[in-house]
Amino acid sequence: MARVARTVIVRSAPLPRKKFNALVELEGMYRNMVEQLVMHAVRNGIRSFIRLKALKYREMRKLYPHLPSHYAYTTCQDASTRAKSFLRLKKRGLTRREHPEVRSVVIWLDDHLWKPIGLTFIRIVTHKGWIKVELEPHRQYWRYVNRGWRLASEAKMKLDRKNRRIIVYLTLVKEVDEYKTRGYLPVDVNENNVTILVDGAAILFETGMRKLVLGYYYRRKKVQQKYDELYGVKSRIKRMILRKLRERKKKQDVRGKIANIIVRTAYEKQYAIVIEELGKRPANNMIRKVKDKQLRHRIFQASFRGVQRAIEEKAREYGVQVVYVNPKNTSRLCPLHNAPLAYSNGSRGGRCRKGGEQWHRDVVATWNLLLRALRGDGSAAPSPAGPTLDGGRVPFGPTATHEPTRVPKPVWARWNTLPQIQNSTTINRMKR
Ligand SMILES: [Zn+2]
Repeated sequence: MARVARTVIVRSAPLPRKKFNALVELEGMYRNMVEQLVMHAVRNGIRSFIRLKALKYREMRKLYPHLPSHYAYTTCQDASTRAKSFLRLKKRGLTRREHPEVRSVVIWLDDHLWKPIGLTFIRIVTHKGWIKVELEPHRQYWRYVNRGWRLASEAKMKLDRKNRRIIVYLTLVKEVDEYKTRGYLPVDVNENNVTILVDGAAILFETGMRKLVLGYYYRRKKVQQKYDELYGVKSRIKRMILRKLRERKKKQDVRGKIANIIVRTAYEKQYAIVIEELGKRPANNMIRKVKDKQLRHRIFQASFRGVQRAIEEKAREYGVQVVYVNPKNTSRLCPLHNAPLAYSNGSRGGRCRKGGEQWHRDVVATWNLLLRALRGDGSAAPSPAGPTLDGGRVPFGPTATHEPTRVPKPVWARWNTLPQIQNSTTINRMKR
């Protein structure tokens, strides 16, 4: 069993003035305590919560004796986290300030300071007693609740003065069963597609990430140029228009959906997911050709890192194991003969120099990921035996096509998991 946690942000219904004022006062005291604690911690190089609490708890209790005692506790937690990251910046020479600024305050709550009442109310204790707050949960919150997630004892909250409500950061947790891995599902992430290998069948999901990122990039640039000239660099209207582009949301959407299909497929088959260990990746990839540094970074984030992260997160939720393998030369070597593949200019099809057979670049990558996982290269992979494999040798049928089955975005976007595939023609037929 493993515990998975997620933070969900829920806002409250507007509060009556009196209740809200009590929270404003609470925030003031909380801020003051955190400021003093951070100052002390940074001055004395204290990074640990335990030490900070040992030194300052009593003092904090005395400072605001009418405040519930556990705030002295959570402010120490909050302050030690802030001090720790500030000291890290300081050490790296990334800040010139002597002390960190306590700009925004998010109040940390432990199980003595707040209690849920059912699923749509919470109570928060203040110097003026308990305050009942009604939540306005959104669909996502209910989805978690319905899927068996429950509220953890820790929470955080922030005041929204303009609307006289609070923003609550709830932590939802779930116990996940881990299963014994029965096979592998290699995933190769590219700038325009994600290719997986399911029991010997390669499936290529078209994502069009490159185009998506490029399109947004140029639109964004245009907006920036136009509004910077008209209203200056920091104009509000520019920010609003940029937000309307919803670039991030669209990218997240693509990533979330593809991660969902992959993880659920692995879960149903009780397979582990095999992905490339990143780090070495950007250098040997096609995005090298993108000259603009910022743009290169964006494509990288959107395609590789972003998709990987989405898969990792989803996998944790389902208890699916993720195996990392060395990405070096995954698309350069023939998985059958271990000989180099010859790619003609810019083509994704290559010919094996030894056997002469044709390969699709992304299919080769998935086979090599699989082989590396089986050999246990650079990972904590289980022993190299799976249902389709015997002694590490991969059964490539003589008639096996090394072309992937392509699935266009509008098709897979409607899937929750991989449809039952007898052979690749099933999906080919679905396309039409
Ligand atoms: Zn070959």
